[in-house]
Amino acid sequence: MAVSRRIVLHFPRRLVDRPIVYRLIRDYNLEFNILKASVTPDEEGLMVLELKGKQEDYDKGIKYLTKAGVKIQSLSQNVIRNEERCTHCGACITICPTGAFELELLTRQVKFYDEKCLACGLCIKACPPRAMELHF
Ligand code: SF4
Ligand code: SF4
Repeated sequence: MAVSRRIVLHFPRRLVDRPIVYRLIRDYNLEFNILKASVTPDEEGLMVLELKGKQEDYDKGIKYLTKAGVKIQSLSQNVIRNEERCTHCGACITICPTGAFELELLTRQVKFYDEKCLACGLCIKACPPRAMELHF
């Protein structure tokens, strides 16, 4: 059975320049589209991928990535902001790799553009009043 999944890969610093994703094609017969790629301020690599292939190859490829030390997250997760908790402190702005937060100069309010969010979860830890929440 063929599958097509969108996932987020978190690469620790030691793996950022290794050809890990390339091996998904060569060794596991998978096709991929890179939808987004970035390096966070603490040099963790982030990549949003669409992976396609046979279910058994997909499962093997995922096993290989996990074993190599890559953290995998499904894009079925959603990060939302609890507006009542947000104090507009701005701590999330520089943390977010996709620029989903922006300071509105006139009002000094931090806007959250959820359509830019890829649910990496970095802002959850960084938000002092815990306004950013992960939903499944
Ligand atoms: S870090 Fe949290 S409280 Fe501060 S602006 Fe961002 S979402 Fe709001
Ligand atoms: S989870 Fe937070 S830090 Fe990650 S992309 Fe979404 S808004 Fe940005």
